[in-house]
Amino acid sequence: MRIAFLGLGSIGAPMARHLAPPRHALTVWNRTRATADAFAGDTGATAAATAAEAARGADVVITCLPSSREVEAVADATDGLVAGMASGSVLVDCTSGDPAASRRLAARLAGAGIGFMDAPVSGGVAGAVRGTLTVMCGGDDATFRRVHPVLDAFGEKIVLCGPVGAGHALKAANQALLAVHIWSLAEALLMATRAGVSPALALEVINASSGRSNASMNLFPERVLTRAFPRTFKLALLDKDIGIAASVAREQRVSAPLMQLTAELMKVSHQALGEDADHVEAVKVVEQWSSQEIA
Ligand code: NDP
Repeated sequence: MRIAFLGLGSIGAPMARHLAPPRHALTVWNRTRATADAFAGDTGATAAATAAEAARGADVVITCLPSSREVEAVADATDGLVAGMASGSVLVDCTSGDPAASRRLAARLAGAGIGFMDAPVSGGVAGAVRGTLTVMCGGDDATFRRVHPVLDAFGEKIVLCGPVGAGHALKAANQALLAVHIWSLAEALLMATRAGVSPALALEVINASSGRSNASMNLFPERVLTRAFPRTFKLALLDKDIGIAASVAREQRVSAPLMQLTAELMKVSHQALGEDADHVEAVKVVEQWSSQEIA
């Protein structure tokens, strides 16, 4: 298949690597051209100067950009991907995006005979490198079956969740849980520490008890106790994700006070720690408020 991949960021680049020759004919585009050139040099893919050039002749175009805002901008620009996509091709958006924006984009593309599926991923950079991502798809059955072999290159669990926007909605729900788990675990560990239990012991016991989560089993042991805080997924993106979840809950008239509060906490943490902070660094704000580190 001829594939175009747009957005070679922290997770986009390792995903695209699985699609590189000889597996597929792959063209890549990235806003910063040097990144696309370096990727092409490493993998045998072709680097394009514009999104339109990358999309020209592709059967499937994949986007992995920060949010739906960038996807719509890259789609609609004069030298954007819609200008290059042919009728009969499909846009697969792996961005963790906004369901309503995706429904609007899908309707516009349908007018040009172009298919659309939202397909956000979970599993982090490590999962992308291993090719074991969970892929949450929104679209029709025929499109899902057509692009499944492409997603299979970087995905392990690939699920059609419902119509266009369903993948983005479910991803936002997952991200809301991630944010709640990180924040609440930081509070819980500080409370246990002040009560005389070491954080390492507290985690060991929680991980053999009913309060455990991916945050307690992986993120905190590897990133908080060690104070390593590697930058793999930006706090700015988690702030965006839980903002989507909170707004979908409001639109759907779901009473979700915890989601709304955690969205506020992520916004405050993002503002305090800046654009480059990793999502797990939100823990530093909880620590600051209690004047104590989890260590
Ligand atoms: P990064 O910030 O690492 O990369 C963002 C990518 O988008 C880069 O290629 C960047 O180009 C490009 N970009 C940024 N702004 C624009 C713009 N205005 N126009 C065109 N391109 C732009 O993000 P990630 O790779 O971490 O995340 C990408 C998506 O995947 C997000 O929706 C995120 O929520 C989601 N995600 C990320 C995970 C992770 O662990 N990192 C896990 C699961 C989902 P440039 O190189 O020029 O900056």
